[in-house]
Amino acid sequence: MTHKITLIPGDGIGPEVAESARRCLEATGVKIEWEEVLAGQDAKEKTGELLPVNVLESIKRNKVALKGPIITPIGEGFRSVNVALRQALDLYACVRPAKSYLGVKSYYKDIDLVVIRENSEDLYAGIEFEEGSEEAKRLILEIEKDSKKKIRADSGISIKPISRFASERIVRFAFEYAIKAGRKKVTAVHKANIMKFTDGLFLKTARQVAQDYAAKINFEEVIVDNMAMQLVQKPHNYDVLVLPNLYGDIISDLCAGLVGGLGVAPGANIGSSMAVFEAVHGSAPKYKGLNKINPTAMILSGVLMLKHIGEEKAAMKLENATREVIAEGKSVTYDLKPSPRDPTAVGTQQMADAIIKRIK
Ligand code: NAD
Repeated sequence: MTHKITLIPGDGIGPEVAESARRCLEATGVKIEWEEVLAGQDAKEKTGELLPVNVLESIKRNKVALKGPIITPIGEGFRSVNVALRQALDLYACVRPAKSYLGVKSYYKDIDLVVIRENSEDLYAGIEFEEGSEEAKRLILEIEKDSKKKIRADSGISIKPISRFASERIVRFAFEYAIKAGRKKVTAVHKANIMKFTDGLFLKTARQVAQDYAAKINFEEVIVDNMAMQLVQKPHNYDVLVLPNLYGDIISDLCAGLVGGLGVAPGANIGSSMAVFEAVHGSAPKYKGLNKINPTAMILSGVLMLKHIGEEKAAMKLENATREVIAEGKSVTYDLKPSPRDPTAVGTQQMADAIIKRIK
């Protein structure tokens, strides 16, 4: 069977890591017909748009995409293409496994965590009011009238919507994921003691959903600041974490740090009928075109993609080959060497070549 998959190379180091992942995926023997489409800076130059409609159409048609990182210029008036893509396709669940690989420098061993982040609402909903704007002034007056609380007149305001619907959907996803992946425990992470009506709703909903799975999967709840400390002190006590959008973003980077950093952290954005696979890292513009950056995170995102399309055996082959190359420590990029200036470090494509050679 041939799988038709959308390929978005992305910006900065995106095209390099996307190319190495594409070659590794093809080397597993799985038949893939790629539909390459542009989003981000390249698309803007060619079409005038950062997220052209043909990108969304391609993913809707093929149901699966592999995506390189895309730059989000700070304060330039448009929202992140990455966030826009997730929202336009309702890819509500962001799945970020954090797994230790022998040979990756880290303070910890044998970490095997999965962070499941709600992707559609919370402070990422993009509902913001600029300091000094008429809308912000009106909103401040309304809020002060209704809540009797004072807000400084020179405030910017971001809105944090958390719904029962999206909370139930993501927590159910986390439990279903835990069952499928043979996991034992789901931990809901929140700040319900302070944000009673948003995080409080998330937590209340999580407790209700957990009851449906009580026979199979353990459930616990942890406040997000405590979670940050617990993960640093006792990461092995945790299994699957489920979090609202912002905490999920921060805690998944923390978990990437536990296993050696962004170079080895894969991810997936999953909806009810579509999925986009991408590394946790961004487009690292200063490394663009240098053939220097670590392709592992993107290759492991490809492993997640193979599992998603039912190619379990190929996924295992590619993950094992990647694990072996990293453990051997010879044909690896600078960040996986004992010192970043190690002259024996190889380039992005050469590391991919070494992985391809190992695929059995
Ligand atoms: P970044 O992840 O691009 O890079 C931060 C640093 O991490 C790099 O300078 C590098 O030292 C290291 N790093 C990242 N990827 C690596 C790899 N594969 N191998 C080795 N080291 C690696 O984060 P940033 O600098 O904050 O963001 C750059 C741009 O990427 C921004 O515009 C940001 O918005 C965007 N971004 C995009 C996505 C996405 O497309 N999903 C995700 C995060 C950031």
